[in-house]
Amino acid sequence: MSYLSELLADVLGGHRLTEAEATWLLDIQGRDIFKIASAADEMRECRVGDIVTYVKNQNLHVTNICKNLCGFCGFGRSAGDEGAYCNDKTAIQEKVRLALGRGVTEICPLSGVHPEFSIDTYCDLISWVHELGPHIHLHAFSPDEVSHAASRNNLSSTDVLNRLKEAGLGSLQGTAAEILVDSVRKVICPRKIRTAEWIRIIIEAHNLGIPSTATIMYGSVESTKDRAEHLGILRNIQDKTNGFTELVPLTYIHTNTPLYTAGIARAGATGREDLLMIAVSRLFLDNFDNIQVPWGKLGLKMSQMMLLAGGNDLAGTMFSDDVSVNAGATDADYLDPLVMNRMVSDLGRILQERTTLYERL
Ligand code: SF4
Repeated sequence: MSYLSELLADVLGGHRLTEAEATWLLDIQGRDIFKIASAADEMRECRVGDIVTYVKNQNLHVTNICKNLCGFCGFGRSAGDEGAYCNDKTAIQEKVRLALGRGVTEICPLSGVHPEFSIDTYCDLISWVHELGPHIHLHAFSPDEVSHAASRNNLSSTDVLNRLKEAGLGSLQGTAAEILVDSVRKVICPRKIRTAEWIRIIIEAHNLGIPSTATIMYGSVESTKDRAEHLGILRNIQDKTNGFTELVPLTYIHTNTPLYTAGIARAGATGREDLLMIAVSRLFLDNFDNIQVPWGKLGLKMSQMMLLAGGNDLAGTMFSDDVSVNAGATDADYLDPLVMNRMVSDLGRILQERTTLYERL
């Protein structure tokens, strides 16, 4: 038996992968990648069965004005830049009405970290949505936005999280994680919070009963060792809090981003790397039920293959993703559940709608 086959058999038997083993798996080339995908698929079947879930949601772009201007992002603008915008209550409620008409259960604000936004702005946003749709789950705000509100209002991050929870926040976005290795963050997002602060705020949120997603944005300048270290951080947090609902692996869309045009980042992850990112995440994160397949970044055919490599969730219907589109993605706006059903039933699996927190509908 090869070392790879032995390692995969051990993992399926309960062995917890080390970061060094995960790094080794992420570097595998050739047909062995399908052995890893197959083991991840088996792990997925044992853990969550054959149901593939999705949520009816809508992204809500509040502003693209951002204090961070990360090098991997094609969405953020400075105030005064061409195309910079900040929607007011009327414009936001117009989008909410549209979302309600589409029967969504979740609204997901995606915005820049506007330098003038404060805790009141974030609480107002929640109340504007709930004024029209009190039942809507708001999946909103990253730890970086929590940190920003805390410093703008001279509050602790726990105070900010409590205020957001009281205002009606349903769950926190696990974004702004990118790669949780500070030497990488200094290159790709130097103005964002550092790793230790991201971890602290996520744990605070979980301890206050606010669940969150977990994300990884891979394929820019980081190494496979950095990816494994990031997964290790997520697994440790989940051991402590069990507050992550899922992993969302976000492949870097490079085309219109400053890091790529300056020649600092490469042209995103390859298909092999995408497949291994999902598969190794499934094998490594033995305390996560759900590994999401972000169809808006991977494309539909690749996404279908990811459902055979450890993925069990097709994310949301979205109805617009300017963050991916501005960075150069195509077909990232809306996925009809009928199309999802075609992708899923073709694999002999079953599509089922869920809530944000994975209750089946
Ligand atoms: S990734 Fe987010 S925080 Fe960074 S520039 Fe883009 S919108 Fe701003």
